[in-house]
Amino acid sequence: MQFRKNISTLKVHHNKNTAACEPVRVAPPKEVLLPMNMHSGSPAEPIVAVGDHVRVGQLIAKPGEGTSCPVHATVSGTVTAIEPYKQADGRSALTIKIESDGKMERDPNLKPPVFDDLDGFLAAVKDSGVVGLGGAAYPLWGKLDAVRKNQIDTVLVNAAECEPYITSDTRMMVDNTELVVKGVELLHKWMNAKKVVICIEDNKQEAIKKLNEALADKDWAELFILPAIYPQGAKQVLLYNVTGQVVKGGQRMASMGVIIINVSSTAKMAEYMETGMPLVDRIVTIDGSAVKEPKNLLAPIGTPLSYLVEQAGGLKCEPGKVLIGGPMLGAAVASMDEPSKKATNSVLFLTEKEAKIYEPTACIRCGRCVANCPVSLNPAALARAMENENADVRFAKLQEFSVGQCIECACCSYVCPAHKPLMESNKQGKRFVKKYKAEHAEGGK
Ligand code: SF4
Ligand code: SF4
Repeated sequence: MQFRKNISTLKVHHNKNTAACEPVRVAPPKEVLLPMNMHSGSPAEPIVAVGDHVRVGQLIAKPGEGTSCPVHATVSGTVTAIEPYKQADGRSALTIKIESDGKMERDPNLKPPVFDDLDGFLAAVKDSGVVGLGGAAYPLWGKLDAVRKNQIDTVLVNAAECEPYITSDTRMMVDNTELVVKGVELLHKWMNAKKVVICIEDNKQEAIKKLNEALADKDWAELFILPAIYPQGAKQVLLYNVTGQVVKGGQRMASMGVIIINVSSTAKMAEYMETGMPLVDRIVTIDGSAVKEPKNLLAPIGTPLSYLVEQAGGLKCEPGKVLIGGPMLGAAVASMDEPSKKATNSVLFLTEKEAKIYEPTACIRCGRCVANCPVSLNPAALARAMENENADVRFAKLQEFSVGQCIECACCSYVCPAHKPLMESNKQGKRFVKKYKAEHAEGGK
């Protein structure tokens, strides 16, 4: 993989409109919906029944087999349903619905975990229910578990938050600096890392100032300040820009002595260790030109989007598109009943004009997609490969142009004057390659 260091040709408008908005804690919604697949890996398994009374922080679903994560009640109230719910991305998952009693009573059994070895630490991280809160949703314990088999020299705390609009990590650093630092200390100790580096873009000056002060006495910790350029926070890009290392296809970063943890995940892990309260709420940025009062909200996980937007003053106009996540990588949702999930860092309500989807036209071979790909791929050639009707040729071409190296950042789609959905095409290309390989490994169909 060949990286371009801090490419600066891609002009993404940062639109960090809510960077100065301290999160407002919302009153409990009438009900929350908690899908069992809010993390990557196997779904959690409910341990409550309809009619049960639950309190905030109570375990309501245990982790499934393998890589998985527990789910906790995010409001106090009554379990009213446990049934499949089809989410915006088309996946269906068993979902626990809790009707709130409005009291937000904390589970009286919660207490900070006690441990004195790595097993105990990792078990506590698992119990916390924390996942990659930057959008990846990979169970945090699963990532940290890599320390059992690898010598971790460097922990990179990803505080880049390079997606436009989103400021939830920024506010976590500004308003909960102590928690971030406690999390950093835990990572340093239990990963036995030589150094912990908080990687932050230079458009977050308030957070930089606070973290600089808080880390002053820790010679093993540093702030690495990066230019605010999309996709600075993509893990492969971050690794290269901070350490100069390049991860090869199929290689795990831990085998290179590095792990990358999102900054809000770091702080939420610390919160659990300090208070015993697992992951039940998070900061969500509500923005977009269709919203009356863009702001950051601290909301229970599972809160319906309709309720979140009400807390931001409601809508100015009918949105043209509602996105969970940012404008580059976010997923469009069709229903305002959709709940926020563990990895929901933002909900954007875009106007018709902002959301306009242009019909793709023929490639004019301008080369912009090539010039702006941070990993030096040729997206135009990959798109042409996907159009090839002969499956064998398509497979060979996709391999030749290294579709597997695409980090799905959408820079190519963003700059293409022909409005070609290049990143989507690459996603399909990866799925095609995987299927083709599986079929040919099975005895050559
Ligand atoms: S999405 Fe496009 S720009 Fe981003 S890595 Fe893939 S090919 Fe390159
Ligand atoms: S940016 Fe679009 S039009 Fe230009 S070369 Fe790439 S695919 Fe073709």
